[in-house]
Amino acid sequence: MSTPMVDVRGVHKSYGPLEVLRGVDLRVRPGEVTVVIGPSGSGKSTLLRSINHLEKIDRGYVTIDGEFIGYRRSGDRLYELRERDILRQRTHIGFVFQNFNLFPHLTVRQNVTEAPVSAQGRPRDEAEALAAELLEQVGLSDKAGAYPRQLSGGQQQRVAIARALALRPKVVLFDEPTSALDPELVGEVLEVMKALARSGTTMIVVTHEIGFAREVADTVVFMDAGRIVEQGPPPQVLDRPRHDRTRAFLSKVL
Ligand code: ADP
Ligand code: MG
Repeated sequence: MSTPMVDVRGVHKSYGPLEVLRGVDLRVRPGEVTVVIGPSGSGKSTLLRSINHLEKIDRGYVTIDGEFIGYRRSGDRLYELRERDILRQRTHIGFVFQNFNLFPHLTVRQNVTEAPVSAQGRPRDEAEALAAELLEQVGLSDKAGAYPRQLSGGQQQRVAIARALALRPKVVLFDEPTSALDPELVGEVLEVMKALARSGTTMIVVTHEIGFAREVADTVVFMDAGRIVEQGPPPQVLDRPRHDRTRAFLSKVL
């Protein structure tokens, strides 16, 4: 396999006695879209949060574009990075949350320019030009001066996607980006994500939208109880699952 953009190796994570990730291995090549499906509580969110070091893992490691996340390696040991280095690394990883998490007191434009200016030190005019470009890409040029509360959920999530892209990330992680939306607003967000996928963005998407997985994913990953049970191209995992647990899950969501 060519050098992965995301490389997750032997990742374990427990909360007290509860082992939530039990040895997860996942590789995503540059430009590929991986869709993660699985029952509630199977560890999908914890996996995404481990990839950008919002969770400190107990065992294993994660690299993005060859760089250890949260750690530096010296000999065969890993040493945790300082907070400011971790924050710098996170600028390479876009994250889109279920509940948008926009800054409520900032306009749409300010939501998109905030991180490039304050975390990356980009000149404001450059950040604003980029924001204009990204808001056009998500179809919200006319909302640049609005506040999040003035937007629909679908519009807010499209702003959140523009904000994630503003750091020019190497990979974008989506955690159930359409789960909090009214059904009639899901399509507009999925359309933006499909366009992003077609443009060659490396993406890991946790979602129950099986149609999206079928259309866009290079790889579908089925997780259950902290492990990847099976993975492969959409027709293989979605139409000819090898495991009973995958079949049982799909029969509930399809
Ligand atoms: P999923 O996203 O697949 O629904 P999660 O990764 O959110 O699953 O959670 C996996 C398990 O870990 C669940 O049992 C959940 O209750 C537990 N969990 C998640 N976060 C925490 C936490 N901060 N403290 C304790 N338990 C947690
Ligand atoms: Mg979750």
